[in-house]
Amino acid sequence: YSINNTTTTTTTTTTPSHVVLVPLMAQGHIIPMLDMARLLAERGVLVTFITTPVNASRIKPIIVRVHESNLPINFIELPFPCAEAGLPLGCENLDLVPSKDLQLNFLQAIQLLALPFEQRLKNLVPRPTCMINDMWNPWAANVARSLNIRRLVFHGPSCAFIYCSYVFQLHKIYETVTDEFEEITVPGLTDVFGQSFKVCRTHAPGWSNAPGFEKLREKVLQGEETADGVVMNTFDDVEPMFVEAYKVVVGKDVWTVGPLCLYDKVDDLSARIVRGNKTAVDQEKLLCWLDSMEENSVLYVSFGSLTQMNVGQILEIGSGLEASEFPFIWVIKDVEKCPKVEKWLEGFEKRMSLRSFVIKGWAPQTVILSHKSVGGFVSHCGWNSTLEALSNGVPMIAWPQFADQFLNGRLVVELLRIGIAIGVKKPVFYYDEDEIRVRRDDVERAVRSLMGDGEEAEERRIRAREIKEKAIKAMEEGGSSYENITKLVEYIKHY
Ligand code: UDP
Repeated sequence: YSINNTTTTTTTTTTPSHVVLVPLMAQGHIIPMLDMARLLAERGVLVTFITTPVNASRIKPIIVRVHESNLPINFIELPFPCAEAGLPLGCENLDLVPSKDLQLNFLQAIQLLALPFEQRLKNLVPRPTCMINDMWNPWAANVARSLNIRRLVFHGPSCAFIYCSYVFQLHKIYETVTDEFEEITVPGLTDVFGQSFKVCRTHAPGWSNAPGFEKLREKVLQGEETADGVVMNTFDDVEPMFVEAYKVVVGKDVWTVGPLCLYDKVDDLSARIVRGNKTAVDQEKLLCWLDSMEENSVLYVSFGSLTQMNVGQILEIGSGLEASEFPFIWVIKDVEKCPKVEKWLEGFEKRMSLRSFVIKGWAPQTVILSHKSVGGFVSHCGWNSTLEALSNGVPMIAWPQFADQFLNGRLVVELLRIGIAIGVKKPVFYYDEDEIRVRRDDVERAVRSLMGDGEEAEERRIRAREIKEKAIKAMEEGGSSYENITKLVEYIKHY
């Protein structure tokens, strides 16, 4: 297979089953789909993975590894229509969208990929037999229809979120609800935390419920309804009641195939270090620092790829970490860096030199979470981050920001009981100028409670280790996700 900007050639002599993967251009969606591409390819399916120039350059090291290991994956780069959608040049990933006002433009830009996508697929040899598209790419449905191939939807978020959003929209339950924080009982669930399960509109569907998103949401729902099946990055032991309820309501094949992050083995550092993007740290330095720390003593603080915090909130977090007295790794995004933050960090890093490791930019998250010194994770509860914590047995402080993160946080705190809630309720994507949501004292208190040696903390650690074992088992031969991947491969091959 040749991997090339514009050309895709295949040198196989037989005609294998051929699946096309169409991720949403966002880190939390590309990363698990890339894991899935490799899993399917290892099981003998030819995979075509759709990307764009900027995203391809981020995952270049993985593309090279795929190429070197002869995995049958072709990468197709479609030019991203930034100019047509009123986006700055190179704004090809959701984490590059500079402001709230342009988010919808970004999601609309993706819809414009349909035409070039269809043209490329028509010329592929062998012709694709199946497509798996992210739910946020409902435009792929028409392309699958015109090629007359099967189409499955991929869900990156937790099934809890997908199920709640789905039934609420399906039954138009929110239409009569004016208070977005009003807690409504979710239909179709009997026993979640030993009682009925309630959510509010601002937590599910939340983010995409904003004005202007209506048409797109409608299309997303249609895309899900017309799909031939659903693939989910979750595993049966983590949220079984939601998976069961979702299967009933959606009425089609549902394959739970996660945690996909376990595709890269814990000891394969060279794979983990390039996961998703070019890391901003020196691997040796990071590992050397981690190795020098006591087991379970380090707190990892990171809020995924999208949330952008302001200076005030960043300073509160830092001050809380300082007061907590535990060692920590703290990730500050490139977009969060500004002269004021940089200046403040100078003094902070000096004071914290013995017990801090500040990463400015992209962190090798799964390398960090799988290290034995890491004993806690302050997280926004993005579903990938949550699965990565579960897969490595790391207890969490749940500080959700938007989208599925509030429900994911509840799974972590209330259902799995491996975390502490920081206590926020209102979603946020970009922190406003003067907004401080969590004060330093609350950060300190939560960190002390998670990382301390009290009985509750110890019990949390034990439960986290148990769920880690279950996650690993799910992906091993005979495990639920492993078997579902087998069924998914059979499905793809059959059609
Ligand atoms: N991630 C990473 N390094 C970073 C930030 C994020 O490796 O510095 C990865 C993280 O491990 C996860 C993904 O990016 O796989 C983020 O997905 P998630 O669903 O947790 O959150 P989102 O970014 O979608 O809010």
